[in-house]
Amino acid sequence: MTPATYAVLNLDALQHNLSIVRQLAPNAQVMAVIKANAYGHGMLRVAASLPQVDAFAVARVEEGIRLRQAGFTQRIAALEGFACIEELQALLHYDIDAIIHCPEQLDMLNTVITEHTLSVWLKQDTGMNRLGFKGPDIAAAYQQLMACNVVRKPLGLMTHFASADNRNGATTLQQINVFNQAMDGFVGERSMANSAGIVGWPEALSDWVRPGIMLYGVSPFAEQTGSEFGLKPVMSLHSHLIAVKDVVKGETIGYSGTWLCKEDTRYGVVAVGYGDGYPRYAKSGTPVLVNGQRVPLIGRVSMDMITVDLASQPHAKPGDPVILWGESLAVEEIARCSDTIPYTLLCGITQRVQIIEQ
Ligand SMILES: *Cc1c(COP(=O)(O)O)cnc(C)c1O
Repeated sequence: MTPATYAVLNLDALQHNLSIVRQLAPNAQVMAVIKANAYGHGMLRVAASLPQVDAFAVARVEEGIRLRQAGFTQRIAALEGFACIEELQALLHYDIDAIIHCPEQLDMLNTVITEHTLSVWLKQDTGMNRLGFKGPDIAAAYQQLMACNVVRKPLGLMTHFASADNRNGATTLQQINVFNQAMDGFVGERSMANSAGIVGWPEALSDWVRPGIMLYGVSPFAEQTGSEFGLKPVMSLHSHLIAVKDVVKGETIGYSGTWLCKEDTRYGVVAVGYGDGYPRYAKSGTPVLVNGQRVPLIGRVSMDMITVDLASQPHAKPGDPVILWGESLAVEEIARCSDTIPYTLLCGITQRVQIIEQ
C-alpha cells in the first residue's frame, strides 16, 4: 500500500545541483547548508548524499552534534554560533566551527577552560542588521580572536546578504564593498555568497560559497524557477484522489463556503492538506497535477484535504495520482500562488508525509 501522501526525494539531483554550484563558483570551496532538516529533505540523508562537499553548515549547535553523532567527519559550521558556555563546550568537544558575531562570545572564548581548540568564522554585519559585528567593532573583534589561544588561526571571515535575490537592488554590491574594505589586511578565507549570491552576483564569489536552496533544485529568485538555471528539484510531493463528485450551480465547496460554483461542476477531493505541509493560503486557481494534467485548486485548503476542479478531467476517479509540486510543477509557482517563498514549503513538510528515496 502506498501512503496517501508522500514526498519522493531524487537524491541524485543533489549531486547534479552541486555540480551547478561548482560550475558557477569553480574556485570556491562549498559549504552545503543543511539547516532545518536540510530544508525539509532530511539532514542526515542529505549529508550522506553529498560526501564530497568541503563543509556542512547548520544553524544550531544541536544540528551539528547530530551530524557528528551520526559519524560525519567533514567540517561543520554552526551559523548561529553559541549562546552560552555549554554550547561553546559542545562545539569544542565535537569540533564544530563557530560563527562569532557578538561580544559576549568573545568573553566566553576568553574564559572557557578547555584542552581543545576551535575553528571560527568572524561574521561582519554589512547591512542585514541580523548577526555580526558592525563598523569599527569588526577590527576589534578580529584582534581579540587573533589573541585568543582557544581559537585556531587563520580565522574564517564571513558576511551574509540581505537582498541578493533582488538583482536590481544596490544593497548587495554595497555589502560586498563594505566587506571587502573591512577585511582588507585581515588574514583568512572569505565567505559571502548564499544561493542568490552564487547565481546572481559573481562579485560575491570568494574562497567559500554557502549554497542552500539551490542544492535542493530551487531558484533563489522569486520570478524564476530552478530549471532556468539548470537545477533539478529534489523533492516532489504526491497524493491521490479519494473522491470524485458533482455539485450544481449555486452550491459552495469547503470550509466557510468560499468557493461558489458558478455552474454544475465535477470536482475531486485530494488527500493532502496543511497537516502535510501543503500551504493553507494557496489561492483558488493554484495548479495541481491530476493524472499529469494541470487542474485548479478550488476552495479552502483543509488540514487533510483539498478540492480541485475536474471539469477538464471528467473520467478522473478515486486513486488517480496527484502531484502538488515537483519536476513538472515547480514549487516556486506554488509558493507564488500562496504568497510565500519555496523555502517555507520545503521546510514545512510534516512528520505525516512519508519520504520515499529515489
Ligand atoms: C541559510 C543561509 C545560507 C543559505 O541560503 P540559501 O538562500 O538557502 O542559499 C547561507 N548563509 C547563511 C548565513 C544562512 O543563514
